[in-house]
Amino acid sequence: MEIDHYLCAMPNIIAIVGRPNVGKSTLFNRLVKSRQAIVEETAGVTRDRHYGKSDWNGIEFSVIDTGGYVEGTDDIFEEEIRRQVELAIGEADVIIFMVDVKDGLTSMDSDVALMLRKSRKKIFLVANKVDNTNRTFDINEFYELGLGQVYGLSSINGSGTGELLDDIVKEFKDTVAAD
Ligand code: GDP
Ligand code: MG
Repeated sequence: MEIDHYLCAMPNIIAIVGRPNVGKSTLFNRLVKSRQAIVEETAGVTRDRHYGKSDWNGIEFSVIDTGGYVEGTDDIFEEEIRRQVELAIGEADVIIFMVDVKDGLTSMDSDVALMLRKSRKKIFLVANKVDNTNRTFDINEFYELGLGQVYGLSSINGSGTGELLDDIVKEFKDTVAAD
């Protein structure tokens, strides 16, 4: 199926954005499991994006994993991440902005946060790699990004993902009710 048709058929679109290696693809795979993941084929590995479908409490949604396999210098990283964030703002209903609690807050995180704050999209700020309870305290530094609640989770072991999805699908319920 072509991407446009695929997205038209699924109004509830979640895009996952953030720096390389924060764990976006790990969360995408956990959300989508083996279900209907498709890969957008465009020129160049940096344009690689993955689309998948899933559901939570009976509410269906699509997930876009952005970033793909990014190669190059820091400048190219920065430019590509910005491009992915702009695309996500354009087409997603909800954006998961993922940061890495092991790395802590970086200047690139702050740059992305600025772009996202200017958009009118609903943003879920997710601090990934909270694999143990000690790290739950470390997520607090991300409150300074000014994006509201920080959802601590571990994409590897799945902890915290249920709470995140509970809150995300509330956005979709509201959308349906308003229509
Ligand atoms: P992406 O570049 O943002 O898509 O990141 P990936 O999903 O490819 O993950 C980058 C690295 O972080 C991989 O080695 C993952 O195994 C690791 N990773 C992802 N999620 C977690 C997590 O919750 N905890 C830990 N400790 N590592 C993680
Ligand atoms: Mg990835």
